[in-house]
Amino acid sequence: MAFSDLDFLEENFIHYAKENTQSNYANKDQVPTTPGQVKMMQELAKQVQDYGVKSRYNEKTAFAIGCLPANTAGVSPIGFFAHVDTVEYDDRFPIRPQVHRNYQGEKIILDEANGVFLDPAEFPDLRNLQGQTLISSDGKTVLGTDDKAGVVSLLAALKYLHEHPEIAHGDLYVAFGPDEEIGLGGQRFDPADFPGVEFAYTLDNGRPGDFEYETFNATAADLTIKGTVVHPGEAYGLMVNATTIMTEFLAALPADQVPEKSRGHDGFIMVTDAQSSVDRAHVGLIIRDFDWDKFLAKEDLVKNLVDRLGQKYGPDRFDLRLRRQYENIYNGVKDRPYVVNLALDSYKKAGLTPRVQTFRGGTDGNFITKKGIPTPNLFNGGGNYHGRYEYVTVEQMDKLTEVLVTIAAEHARQSQTGRDERPLKKYW
Ligand SMILES: [Zn+2]
Repeated sequence: MAFSDLDFLEENFIHYAKENTQSNYANKDQVPTTPGQVKMMQELAKQVQDYGVKSRYNEKTAFAIGCLPANTAGVSPIGFFAHVDTVEYDDRFPIRPQVHRNYQGEKIILDEANGVFLDPAEFPDLRNLQGQTLISSDGKTVLGTDDKAGVVSLLAALKYLHEHPEIAHGDLYVAFGPDEEIGLGGQRFDPADFPGVEFAYTLDNGRPGDFEYETFNATAADLTIKGTVVHPGEAYGLMVNATTIMTEFLAALPADQVPEKSRGHDGFIMVTDAQSSVDRAHVGLIIRDFDWDKFLAKEDLVKNLVDRLGQKYGPDRFDLRLRRQYENIYNGVKDRPYVVNLALDSYKKAGLTPRVQTFRGGTDGNFITKKGIPTPNLFNGGGNYHGRYEYVTVEQMDKLTEVLVTIAAEHARQSQTGRDERPLKKYW
């Protein structure tokens, strides 16, 4: 049985899926990186006003911000994030959402000429969607389920709460953000736009029931090595070849701590690029680990290795720069288990079996958590994100709507009856 208005979800998803909101890293100095995102966020800021939400568009950060005011006292404000940008949009191939009603688990022909099919034999999750209204692209483009399904479910939740004033809730903040796919949106978010918000959730990727609060800690490193160039015929005892030193550095990195030998909760050190001449060498690295101590140990390993080479060849030849990219969301919730428990309790109340996922990457929530608002990730339904096989069902979006309303209501309820503070399970 539907929780909210399925026609609303379907119509709004199709409407927003058709908008060109691709983010573009080549324009990384513009905020946001593309004008289509501004158009959609201004539209959203206006639409939510129909649901009693006070809203505005922050031109500096390019986030559309809304607040559905509390209808009861003594409940802390919480927030939700959904991003408007998609990974691609080519004006020659506009996104054309296709609606498959009462889907029966059959193979769907998307683009016969090019052999693009949504086939349960290939994507077994489709078998769980029988009887639902499935939406796909025409097989030539992405659909933009990531994250327009999150945007639309959030709209539906605000509308639902507006129409059900009997459901008690505190201040609910929403943020529609730009440039998530290129890792810039969350970095620019201004926590002053979420005054007093105790914690928040992103609605990004994942099947109904998925939940993420474990991500990598991440550092990028740049090592520059200076050599001494001498005519090779007269180089005896004088030349210092930066390529030789670089090779020594690379050979000393742990061979078993690389992405291709890492899974689950393993971390790694990866050489992303290496260029050299006699005169100068440059090595780019990324360092990843879930566990904070192991992460620091990996950073130290690189620093110590450069120190050792510095003793051998002279410290002035080496310039190592480490730049923290993001930190594990777990660091921000480990002492605040309620943030996780509230979501998982709400999943169960909405009839979902929670599946805590480990995310071998980072999300907007990493940046927002670091800014002082712990922000794990829920889900947006659908599957096959970022490609021609992307899909979502109206019922999956409805489930997310139910979860969002339940989180709001459950937060108000537990604020009175006592919070679920059971310690978190650590997954490594
Ligand atoms: Zn996303």
